Parts: sequence; structure tokens; C-alpha cells
Amino acid sequence: MIILSGGTGTPKLLSGLKEVYAEENIKVIVNTAEDMWVSGNLVCPDVDSVLYTLSSLIDDNKWWGMKDDTFITHEALKYLNLDESMMLGDRDRATHIARSDLLRAGMTLTEATAKIASGFGIRAKILPMSDDHLETIIHTPDKKMHFQEFWVERKGEPIVNNVDIEGIKDAKPSESVICALESEDTVMIGPSNPITSIGPILSLNGLVDILKDKFVIAISPIIGKRAVSGPVEKLMAACGYEVSSLGVFECYKEFLDLFIVDVKDDCLVDDLSVDILRTDTLMSDLCKSKELARVMIDLA
Ligand code: GDP
Repeated sequence: MIILSGGTGTPKLLSGLKEVYAEENIKVIVNTAEDMWVSGNLVCPDVDSVLYTLSSLIDDNKWWGMKDDTFITHEALKYLNLDESMMLGDRDRATHIARSDLLRAGMTLTEATAKIASGFGIRAKILPMSDDHLETIIHTPDKKMHFQEFWVERKGEPIVNNVDIEGIKDAKPSESVICALESEDTVMIGPSNPITSIGPILSLNGLVDILKDKFVIAISPIIGKRAVSGPVEKLMAACGYEVSSLGVFECYKEFLDLFIVDVKDDCLVDDLSVDILRTDTLMSDLCKSKELARVMIDLA
């Protein structure tokens, strides 16, 4: 099974999937356009969430960082006037140090991620979407800023005029991503942000053309007019999409075959040109994640 992922909604699904499906048969293509260098190390927020989810180390209250982590280094850096914009835990930071060392030694992000994943004992394949560095830029009335500045430092408060991904024109999916997609007939898109998580993956050269030849199943991350979490409402509106499952459908309509929307969603999606499946998509605990994962397995 192959699934496109961001760092919260789809990892929730993966937490259930790994309990009910052979982990070695799971391949996850992960957004890297939110990556950022912090205190000398590369933080890959979405890749990290997937790594920690699949190793059962994720802090599943926040869906970022590791559970029971400490923040001694983060606090110590403040005394050196290095007030990091992100709260990086100590064990989490070890992942970033290892990754950055591997990159400096000449590995690609794909290779470094595979090495770190095997260190965590993960048998699923975690595939960063690209080995090219990309940055999601949020345009506000005052200035342009990195997605992490908008969301982590400014708590998603600035008005958003537009979103773009710096470097996307020349970015390619990694070889491993292409090979993984070629070996599957069905591709899943998890309930992730269609603008800043799935959007960058779809923007990679040739990616949409590959999906047009697949049976693509997507889960809507919007229920009714509301996101379950994160800044997706503001970002979809800024990019000209209705904040609803209909808006999510618009993002995927070129290649989508089956759209999964929540049973409580009253959005008028039934007239769309794709098949619709209504089910409970709100993963409020591991049991609910497993239930939704079973639906996906049956469909696959
Ligand atoms: P990010 O990288 O942290 O932004 O995370 P994602 O893009 O992977 O996930 C954020 C999206 O997941 C948001 O649009 C949420 O509305 C959606 N989401 C989070 N939890 C759930 C859930 O339990 N069910 C559904 N359907 N969507 C969810």
C-alpha cells in the first residue's frame, strides 16, 4: 500500500494501519517542503512525524515530537541567546543531528531517512518526496515568510494572501518515489492538508501524470466546513478553494477516482464525477485509526 502524507492527519491513519497491516508492505511518500535548518540541523517535520509514528515514539497529544522528550538543550541554548523558533526536544534533536551528519557525509535525504528509519526498527518504507530542497512560503500583507515562521512562531495568525513553494519549478520526485509509485496500481492520499502537505508532492515534475494512470483514493481532511486541526482553512481560502470537501476535491479532481468523506459531512459531494464513500474519518483515538485503516485495506 502506498500513501501520500503530511505530518498529522495521515500519520494518525498510519498509527492504525501499522497495527492491522504488514508494516513492510507500507510505503509512505512524505512532504518535505516544510523542512527547515534549525541550530545547524535539518528538521523535517513531516518525515519526523512519520518516523515517530511508525516507531510508536510519537507524542500523540500533539502529533509532533517524541513522547516523554525533554527540552534541556533547547532551554540551554536560550542562555547563549539562541532562542530557537521551534521547541525541539532532546531525543528529537538527535534525529536531526544524525540526519544532518548523514547529509554532510554525502547521503541524499532519501538515503539518510532510510538509515534513520532502520535505526528505529521501522520496516515500512518512508520516502521523502524529493531530494531537492524546497520551502513553503506564506505571503502575508507585511512580508513573505517560511511556513514554520507562519505556523510555529506566529501561531498561524497573519492574514494569508498566497502560498508558494520555492524551488518547485526544478524539483523532481526522488527515484525511489517514482519506483514506488510505478510498482502500485492504487495510490492513497491520507487526510492531510491539500495546500501545504499534499500540494507540494503533487507539484513535483511529472507526479500528477503518474497519478492519472493509477486508481487514486483520497480521504478528506475537512469535515463540514471545518478542519480537524491545523491552518488548512486559512490556506485553502487564500488559494481560492472553498473550505470544504468540495474544495479538497477541486485540488485532486485531475486524477481522483474515489473520495472518502466523513459521514457527518453535509457537503454536497455526491454529484461529483468520482465515487464517494462516506465513513467515520475522525480518528480521535487508536481504535478509530485502526477502523479507518481497515476500510483503506479493504479498498486497496
Ligand atoms: P501537517 O503537516 O501537520 O499540516 O499535517 P497534515 O497535513 O498531515 O494533516 C493536517 C490535516 O489533517 C488537517 O487539514 C486536518 O483537518 C486533518 N486531520 C487531522 N486529523 C484528522 C482526522 O482525524 N480525520 C480527518 N478526516 N482529518 C484529520
